[in-house]
Amino acid sequence: MNELNLILLGPPGAGKGTQGARLRDDLGLPYLATGDLLREHRARETPLGVQAAGYMAAGRLVPDELVIALLLGEISERGKRGFLLDGFPRTPGQADALGAALLSESRELSAAVLVDVPDDALLERTTGRRQCPDGHLYHVVFDRPARAGVCDVDGKVLVQRDDDHAEIVRERLRVYHDCTAPLVDYYRARGLLLRVDGLRPADAVYASLREALAVPELAL
Ligand code: AMP
Repeated sequence: MNELNLILLGPPGAGKGTQGARLRDDLGLPYLATGDLLREHRARETPLGVQAAGYMAAGRLVPDELVIALLLGEISERGKRGFLLDGFPRTPGQADALGAALLSESRELSAAVLVDVPDDALLERTTGRRQCPDGHLYHVVFDRPARAGVCDVDGKVLVQRDDDHAEIVRERLRVYHDCTAPLVDYYRARGLLLRVDGLRPADAVYASLREALAVPELAL
């Protein structure tokens, strides 16, 4: 297989966004993050954005049929020659739909990479997260910008996502364990799971991620 079709799996706050941005830059893969796409729809007040807003604010999952249509549309527009997915699939139904859509085009997944972080570290990581409107990510303790509250890259003001407040994060973690964690076994059973320990500095996580992906059949 010469195209690379990757999934990033892991709980909220595991560092998928940070690692995904580096993989996107290094491998030149289209980076499709359903959370970012939904936030764009919400900001533009499209019908999908309006439908999704309530679920997102509560930390619940947007219904499968909406997210599947969104993501498969993005893959056929931007991911025809490979992709990196962040935040999708989040349920076995979404995973089945993705697998079926790829199969119908004689394509397949290359790997599902689990960025593994235990729950007790996730609350601090998530509630301390800040980002600029263009998606550059920081943390108030672990990854501070040079000037407090301002993006190093483009000078824009950093904000906290409205679903990164503690009580919403707790709900997102509950939803992760109920709905998304079963995908770890789902992809392990299909021989596609790669696990990296996400509880280390971002550079170290990235080094093991690249190492994990460099298995011969992926031919990076
Ligand atoms: P994220 O940025 O990945 O943490 O996603 C933010 C929010 O968008 C989630 O809490 C969900 O409400 C919604 N969302 C993102 N991706 C999905 C998905 N694959 N399925 C259902 N809801 C999603």
